[in-house]
Formats: sequence, C-alpha cells, structure tokens
Amino acid sequence: MEKTDIRGLALPELEMEVTALGEKPFRARQVYQWLHQKLITDYGQMSNLLQKLRETLADHFSLTALEAVDVRISQIDGTRKYLFRLADGNVIESVWMRYHHGNSVCISSQVGCRMGCRFCASTLDGLERNLTAAEMLDQVYRIQALTGERVSNVVVMGSGEPLDNYDNLLRFIKLLGAPEGLNISQRAVTVSTCGIVPGIRRLAEEKLQITLALSLHAPDDETRRQLMPIANRYALEDVMAACRDYFALTGRRVTYEYSLVRGVNDDVRTARALAGLLSGAHGHANLIPVNPIRERDYVQSDQRSIQAFKNQLERSGIPATVRREMGRDINGACGQLRRSFLREERQKEGE
Ligand code: SAH
Repeated sequence: MEKTDIRGLALPELEMEVTALGEKPFRARQVYQWLHQKLITDYGQMSNLLQKLRETLADHFSLTALEAVDVRISQIDGTRKYLFRLADGNVIESVWMRYHHGNSVCISSQVGCRMGCRFCASTLDGLERNLTAAEMLDQVYRIQALTGERVSNVVVMGSGEPLDNYDNLLRFIKLLGAPEGLNISQRAVTVSTCGIVPGIRRLAEEKLQITLALSLHAPDDETRRQLMPIANRYALEDVMAACRDYFALTGRRVTYEYSLVRGVNDDVRTARALAGLLSGAHGHANLIPVNPIRERDYVQSDQRSIQAFKNQLERSGIPATVRREMGRDINGACGQLRRSFLREERQKEGE
C-alpha cells in the first residue's frame, strides 16, 4: 500500500495519526512545525524528536521534498525560475518574483495540462498527472528555503488547471494558511482558471478570501473558442455569470486575464466589446502581452496596440493593468523551461 504523505496532513489529522502511534499529541505539533515552518526535507532533521519516533514516522509516512534540478536567475529583475524534480521523476516549474510589496511565488498545479489552450506550452503534451497538495506546498517551501526570504504571495498560475485538481488545491490553500505553518493568508493567494464553470461555482461556495483570476482572452465565444478549447464546453455567458456569483458570495473582485495576440484579439473594436462584457462585473482586466512559444505562430501585440487597448478599456470605465514582464531574459512562456529540459534529457538518452 502506498504510504500517506505526511506533508499533506493538516495538524488535526497529524495529531490523530501520531496519537494512534502511541505518542502524545504535542509531538504532532512539533512534527508539523518541522514540516511547515522549518521546511525540513528529511526526518533526520527533526532534531528534538527521538530517533525511534523519527524511524516510526518514516516507516508509516512518505515525505515530499522537491529537488531543484535547475534555476535560471534574471539579470534584469532577479526573477528566478526553478525546475523541480518530483519523487516519480516528473519535473515541474515554479517562479519566484520580487515585487515592492513582497515576494511572490507562481506554482504549478499539475504535471502538464489537458485544457489545450492554443498559445500555452504547458498543454502541448497533455496531462501527465495531478500534483498532490504537498507537491504544491513544497514548491513554495523549497523556494523560501533556497532564497532565504519570506514568500508573501502565492499565485496558482503555473502549469496546469487548478480547478481540474480541485480537492488537492483546496487542501493546499488550507495548509498554506495554517497558523502553525507559513500562515499565508487567503487574501495573498490567487487561483487562475481557464473557466471551468462547475469548479468556479463550487469554489464560490467555499467562501474563501482568495482572489479568483479568470483567463478570458476574448470577449466573444467565437474568438475564445479559437484560443481555448474549454470555451466549447462552457459558454462565455455562463462563465461570466459564475464569476459574478463568485463576487456576490465572497465579496472578492475577480481578475480578468487577457493575453493580447496580434491580429487575433488586440484591436480597439475588441477592446470595446471587452469593456461591454466587463461592465458591472466587479473586476479588472489584466492585459498580458502573449508570450510566443516555438510550437505555435502567435505573435505579441506591439506596444502601441497594447496601450490603445488599455486606453479604450479605461475610457469605458474598466480598470486595466498591463502585466509587467518579469524576467524577460529567462522568460520562455509557462512550461517552456520544462519542455526544453525534457528535450535535453531525451537527447541524452538517445545518445
Ligand atoms: N490553467 C490556468 C492557470 C495556468 S495559465 C488558467 O488557464 O488560467 C496562467 C495564465 O497564463 C492564463 O491566463 C493563461 O491563459 C496564460 N498563458 C499561458 N500561456 C501563455 C502565453 N504563452 N502567453 C501569455 N499568456 C499565457
């Protein structure tokens, strides 16, 4: 039988497990702090526990600890892109960014992705598997340990569709906010989805204080379907209704992400349509110049079109920001570092 991952247990669950092993409940708290505050990677580091207990724990539980196999550091703004190896040999990407309000980590929620967005590198080989809560958590932990600086914000915007991995996502958010752990509040967490309507509705019912980001990318179904296959499943009208309800239930404003692709969705007429769609939606538009990937021929909009698009939205009363490109020199779109790593591995194997 596969062992339970000890890093994926909430404190009350760990207390139950530890007392079932015949230990006092306070031991569970100590173990929890080693795992979620001191961010250890090995039972041997739990130095205030008896050797015997450490061995018992190792017998009963696995312990997720990601191994950093590559890091790229931007010479422009210090952004770091990490490549982590999981216990089963899969690799994932996470990004660390320094902003004036603190350090932010962008994590992956799945190995690969099955959503098929046309401009995205993470989905080219489909979905490999979901990440466990501990694997999501340990991306944040490893990065905090490696940088030696506190992580204050977490965005679930790396590879994968978080609402396609719902239960693990929720467990991850709760563990991240545990006072006996890193204590990262829900308000400092953003979850980005391509628009899985039942997932958005379910999330709204949880009444969390996280920020929901919707990957919109087009103001009409037709254009959206060209870019995102998920738009064939859920009509824009239903996606927008789910987001409005998300705001109504949680009081949290939604971020509408919009990747600008030259000649596809970046003209002023489209900006007017977007403004119409977002009026009364209680959110703002976050414009992202599309990051070209080598497997597709989408091209970034030029600076003038981006500015004109933004101005049009603002004239119509829709708050809009253009996402600052972080780590432009190491950038490669979402999922590209992983792909180039896998290509190199395959080449080595072929030699
Ligand atoms: N699956 C989730 C989260 C991961 S993608 C979602 O779809 O929201 C995070 C964001 O990056 C999404 O808005 C996605 O559409 C966008 N994105 C992916 N590849 C991109 C690229 N090459 N250029 C610009 N934005 C991209």
